[in-house]
Amino acid sequence: MSSESKNPRVVPVAPAPENPRQIKRASGFVEDAYSRIREDIMSLKIPPNTRISVDSMAREFGISQTPIREALSMLEANGLVTKQRFIGYCTAPTLNRKQFEELFEIRLLLEPYAARCAAERMSDKALIDLCGLALEMNPDQAAQSRTLYDQFADQDAEFHEQIARGSNNNLIVESLSRLHIHLHIFRLRFHREVTNEAVAEHTLVTKALQQRDPDQAEAAMRAHLEKSYQRLVKFTRE
Ligand SMILES: [Zn+2]
Repeated sequence: MSSESKNPRVVPVAPAPENPRQIKRASGFVEDAYSRIREDIMSLKIPPNTRISVDSMAREFGISQTPIREALSMLEANGLVTKQRFIGYCTAPTLNRKQFEELFEIRLLLEPYAARCAAERMSDKALIDLCGLALEMNPDQAAQSRTLYDQFADQDAEFHEQIARGSNNNLIVESLSRLHIHLHIFRLRFHREVTNEAVAEHTLVTKALQQRDPDQAEAAMRAHLEKSYQRLVKFTRE
């Protein structure tokens, strides 16, 4: 029993709300700013290679410049924004052909192998979560708006990350996450065919994982990446 409850004069009170609330609000500003600017960049509302004015963003969102700057540096870490001397923050250019090819080259090296390992090493619980995620991905919804498409991109990123984690090799997980693949490829294209086909291909991957079949899992992931490459390569800059 605590000493407070023995003393009738001490009434337990909730912790003072002011300070924690302020911190939370400030970080909420950063998160809001981050997701709104990210959405504007992903939807090409702010086109690639375009200067972002911190001042006008702050006025548009009705907040101070500090959370905007913080959000922009988070976006810089994701590769969606670059900081240039004398100019300030700019949206990154979309991938050119060479960058796109490099990205898929490394994906094709790592992800089919990760799927192979995941077929053998992924826990049943992780596999159930993965299948749940795959079922949640709705291509019809994704075609309705840019925001839902953006959500689809996040879910696709999560799908691939969970399989990487299923490989039980942290270096594979880290290497892939550092590439920020999904932010870059989903900026290339907003179209129904991308999402419809991807969902069907994901099903083949999850099926092979459920059957604990390493060969099939590797082949299904390779096929998914090769088809993604074909769907998207035409939208890259020469
Ligand atoms: Zn995918």
